[in-house]
Amino acid sequence: PFSPGTPLPVDRLVALDRAHVWHPYSPMPGKATPYVVESASGVRLRLAEPAGGHRELVDGMSSWWAAIHGYGHPELDQAVRDQLGRMSHVMFGGLTHEPAVRLAARLVEITPEPLQHVFLADSGSVSVEVAMKMCLQYWQSIGRPEKRRLLTWRGGYHGDTFHPMSVCDPEGGMHQLWGGVLPRQLFVGEPPAGFDAPLDAGYAAELDELIEREADELAAVIVEPVVQGAGGMRFHSPEYLRLLRELCDRHGVLLVFDEIATGFGRTGALFAAEHAGISPDVMCLGKAITGGYLTLAATLCTGEVANGISRGEVPVLAHGPTFMGNPLAAAVANASIDLLLRQDWQQEVKRIETGLRDSLAGAAGVPGVRDVRVLGAIGVVQLDHPVDMAAATEAAVREGVWLRPFRDLIYTMPPYITGDEDLARIGAAVTAAAVAG
Ligand code: PLP
Repeated sequence: PFSPGTPLPVDRLVALDRAHVWHPYSPMPGKATPYVVESASGVRLRLAEPAGGHRELVDGMSSWWAAIHGYGHPELDQAVRDQLGRMSHVMFGGLTHEPAVRLAARLVEITPEPLQHVFLADSGSVSVEVAMKMCLQYWQSIGRPEKRRLLTWRGGYHGDTFHPMSVCDPEGGMHQLWGGVLPRQLFVGEPPAGFDAPLDAGYAAELDELIEREADELAAVIVEPVVQGAGGMRFHSPEYLRLLRELCDRHGVLLVFDEIATGFGRTGALFAAEHAGISPDVMCLGKAITGGYLTLAATLCTGEVANGISRGEVPVLAHGPTFMGNPLAAAVANASIDLLLRQDWQQEVKRIETGLRDSLAGAAGVPGVRDVRVLGAIGVVQLDHPVDMAAATEAAVREGVWLRPFRDLIYTMPPYITGDEDLARIGAAVTAAAVAG
């Protein structure tokens, strides 16, 4: 429909997009008019055409938790270029390379102690699939094939492929359509809200009883530690993670932490498990692992899980995506982790936490706002009604900020390099979106 090499006029691009391109959770043909991003630099998205009077928007979303260093960082750009000069990809079966090996060793070094083996997956959902497969295969391999179910708390989100969908929030979530065909898992209510909330003894007893009763069939408990993201942006106390660790140990069940959203500093700890001072048996990482540059995820497990699998009739983990361990993605992940850990990132996340607390304080007084909460570099305004997504997004864009509200939530998780003025702007935009939505 157009000649190669010729830039598409914006109206033509939008028409082709609406006619042919699926966007996340969107109808086909497309109904909403997408904002066209021409380029991105620092914390700013540059639009092809002005929107709400702005040609540039401050990114309040870090491209869904991923772009922690912002866009176009010279070191990360250089890491991709350098790697591109060597090789962009080779198969990972029977071959290996330095970017992937360095990354695996680094992940083992920076994650909690007993995690020591790394499967480099190609997206967050796949890393959750792999985690679940590891757990089921572990029990199968050590002679307990009946342990096949997973337990999770309600309100979670673990991805869009079939097994991860089976542990997403079964009611308020995005996958109700599939209720009848998904593997049947076990759910328990989510822990009481609040990072500082004390442990609820009644809830702890209920969980203990449930895990004990189901232990014969339970392979693993899988949760998002400290912050439940796309299932509702809820925060809970690390006490519940310690409780899960204790109950899983006592009743012989594996514990999986999905740190795809929380990993790499977002909650104020490098990994959310650190708030609780414990380690899961299996951990999923993704999103910010490459600083948002390329698609890559990782599933880490303990020696015990890996050794168990090796003792089985099929002694291999039967998984191997074509783009496993992609060198470009691994190289930029190494550069992103180096960049993060070289700085006083805790200080930056703390600064963002304080900035968001200040700039979101006013939202609490907006009619229809039920709750305002901030943890690390995450700010959430929850309404008492479903948000009008289009109106809320437009209101934020008029303030010069990119946000993506959903359900009853208007939230932000800005890049860690966001300056104080831009944080104030994000706060004003979230508040404006709450008024409009
Ligand atoms: N798990 C959590 C906690 C997530 O937040 C997400 C993505 O939002 C996923 C899994 C799925 O990751 P991906 O979108 O890369 O497949």
